[in-house]
Amino acid sequence: MSISAEQIQFDQQHIWHPYSSMINPPAALPVVSASGVRLTLANGQQLIDGMSSWWSVIHGYNHPALNASAHQQIDKMSHVMFGGLTHEPAIELARKLVELTPAPLDKVFLADSGSVAVEVAMKMAIQYWHARGQANKHRLLTLRNGYHGDTFGAMSVCDPVTGMHEIFADVLPQQLFAPAPQTGFDQPWDPADIAPLAQLMEQHADEIAALILEPIVQGAGGMRMYSPQYLKQARALCDQYDVLLIADEIATGFGRTGKLFACEHADIAPDILCVGKALTGGYMTLAATLTTRHIGETISAGGAGCFMHGPTFMGNPLACAVANTSLQLLIDNDWQADVQRIEAGLNVGLAPARQLASVADVRCLGAIGVIEMKEPVSSAELQPLFVERGLWVRPFGKLVYVMPPYVINDSDLAILTHGMIEALQHYRG
Ligand SMILES: *Cc1c(COP(=O)(O)O)cnc(C)c1O
Repeated sequence: MSISAEQIQFDQQHIWHPYSSMINPPAALPVVSASGVRLTLANGQQLIDGMSSWWSVIHGYNHPALNASAHQQIDKMSHVMFGGLTHEPAIELARKLVELTPAPLDKVFLADSGSVAVEVAMKMAIQYWHARGQANKHRLLTLRNGYHGDTFGAMSVCDPVTGMHEIFADVLPQQLFAPAPQTGFDQPWDPADIAPLAQLMEQHADEIAALILEPIVQGAGGMRMYSPQYLKQARALCDQYDVLLIADEIATGFGRTGKLFACEHADIAPDILCVGKALTGGYMTLAATLTTRHIGETISAGGAGCFMHGPTFMGNPLACAVANTSLQLLIDNDWQADVQRIEAGLNVGLAPARQLASVADVRCLGAIGVIEMKEPVSSAELQPLFVERGLWVRPFGKLVYVMPPYVINDSDLAILTHGMIEALQHYRG
């Protein structure tokens, strides 16, 4: 044991984990190392990671190429301020992002986390209309069941129910919410699905700066996969009503849904794009907000003469160097074949869950597999059933879902899906 009982106790008494309580929190599992798709716990047990540490570890843990680039960069400089200074890791990363993302996206803002990238996107949209003399266009339109991060601006466009807007009602900007898309990814398109969004745009066009959405897959707000037609039509409505489109691809970006960016399923380009999570292959925090030349130049021609944002650790060289290597691995490896292979494995492996009385729906897209239960599950009861089977799967609400690293092999994937089904069979709700 390299972690003592006292340390675990300290953790429980003093450290906030994501969305955790300070009253009798469940003990977190101590991890001492990780390699490939496996986490090693302090007691020596190994768990196959179904979560990719929340979408980010696409190439697996302890990757030799990512390790090497971190070592090389840290021996040169770990950090230097980005105001007035620049460096090769940031330049080469921005070049790759401009190349890989949809064509009109041309200007790159390096942010320190996904939530910050969303804040930056929202500020860009508002500053854009302000610079055009339309300061009244400062509200955001978004979709129910969305998730865009935990800072105030981002929170204001998260689902009002799961985001507990009632607590923050007096401090959050009041945004506009359209119902979540109802047509599933593979379902025949129903034009009525887009009508509420069209109506909101028509009624409020003069006050809306941008529509912000997660393209194709709504992640933390419900793991919902919707029709590319919805996205196509939303793009057309934005053009019709002079509303910018912000695509939040922080979860979906870099191949996860089977396309490099989920917008490609609908053949559209957003005006502003947020990426994060997998950007550094899960090594450290880094995100980016990209926009078009027109928006970048319009903002810059406005009253402020610049874009009003600049974090201390902007463009951190260490994070940029690792991100460069991670993107190069993505380009050099056949990620598309891996994601297709994982999609096939998830489809076959999770299908038996449909036979369980407790299961409402099973759906897969790209390297994402979701089992939706009829009732919310108790993580405290379900988690140990996964751990017993050598798996790291972290359910929330009614959702038991996985998005494994792209490097997971077929036999580990089969262990993962089989273990998920078995755990759910033993789970008594
Ligand atoms: C995770 C996530 C964010 C927030 O990113 P952080 O790095 O956690 O701040 C924003 N949008 C989407 C779609 C996400 O999945």
